Amino acid sequence: MELRTMRVSTSGITGKKKGSGSNDIFEKCRNFTRPSDLQSAGLYMYFEVFGDRDGCGPGEVRMGKRKVLMFGSNDYLDLITHPKVKEAAAQAIRKYGSGCSGSRLLNGTLDVHIQLESELADFVHKEAALIFGTGFQANYATLSALTEKGDVMICDHNLHASLVEGALRSSARTMRFRHNDLDHFERCLENCPQEDKILIVSEGVFSMEGDIADLRGIMKLAKPYGARVYVDEAHGIGVLGPTGAGAAEHLGVLDDVDIVMGTFSKSLASVGGFIAGERAVVDYLKHTARPFVFSASLPAASVAAVGAALEIMRKEPQRREHLLRVAQFLREELRARGFNVLPGETAIVPVVIQEEIDLCRLCKRLLEEGIYINPVLRPAAAQNLLRISCTAAHTEAQVERLLDTLERVSSELGIPR
Ligand code: PMP
Repeated sequence: MELRTMRVSTSGITGKKKGSGSNDIFEKCRNFTRPSDLQSAGLYMYFEVFGDRDGCGPGEVRMGKRKVLMFGSNDYLDLITHPKVKEAAAQAIRKYGSGCSGSRLLNGTLDVHIQLESELADFVHKEAALIFGTGFQANYATLSALTEKGDVMICDHNLHASLVEGALRSSARTMRFRHNDLDHFERCLENCPQEDKILIVSEGVFSMEGDIADLRGIMKLAKPYGARVYVDEAHGIGVLGPTGAGAAEHLGVLDDVDIVMGTFSKSLASVGGFIAGERAVVDYLKHTARPFVFSASLPAASVAAVGAALEIMRKEPQRREHLLRVAQFLREELRARGFNVLPGETAIVPVVIQEEIDLCRLCKRLLEEGIYINPVLRPAAAQNLLRISCTAAHTEAQVERLLDTLERVSSELGIPR
């Protein structure tokens, strides 16, 4: 085999001519025409640009001069424009400045980080919590740091990319069980040699399909093996459980879950993420999880917004109740109108649209009609989905408008239900 020598110099990689045809590393980028093909066909639906929310009512966002009904947001409790949340963030900027300019490990830990970590730990009934820059980072950092060669990770098949990437980065062996299939899960457990240390990974509410993991069943099977259980509650927190702590709380197994993960970018109206569990685990991760150690800490404004959102969540359970009522009404009405809605009881209401082209055309037309909904194309989910997100902002009248528009537009476009 020919050994191609490359020298790294201060001016970059040398050893081959810059931009010389097929051996140019940028070649694949220029050949990547899927987005422009969709754009030419008028079907590109990504990176839509939204404006400020001045003058927008609940459930609305601005797009250019228009106001659009937003059914794609994960702001489940309608808190990102809440005056108390905005004021908490603004006040934190005034007091602490706009950023931390350092890693938590060194100069980047603020008193507000410690305060929020303590509140989050209490919220999910754990000894300690650790905040990360994003939810993605929390999953990626924790899974990759916590497991090592010789360990086994048993994962639900439909995990979010951040969990998948964490598992891929880890040296542990990974086994995947069919989505929410406890028989298959049990077979994976049985196939682990007795000396293996096992981490089970699931989402509480699955992000695309919106269904709830069978955490009771998982817990019951896992514990005799001494396996630890990690649950990503990104879409469960704020939505499920008597105090909004997520799917595990809803199913009565919160205390049995070993590590709870949450994100601030959904019900908690900010950006960032956290994990919570045994103090020894948190201390270990604090010093070993590279995406945590080698990355700057979350700005005080983002932290303060989460604190305010948590307080409102605690004091106003009616937000969660309203959200779930709206979602249930939407699910039932969609079914009554012949749409294929996946089963569920959360804020996520996914409608199966078999053909990718139909889904793209549908989302485009809905947006022209003033309604934004996220398209989810395979392989991001097992089927192509019109993934409708309900929030506490939505009124029954807005849901009626969505239903009527969806019914009319899908008939006009000849999309099978
Ligand atoms: N986990 C799940 C299940 C998610 O849906 C998401 C975000 N879509 C994340 C983790 C990542 O969270 P964040 O957006 O805060 O990075």
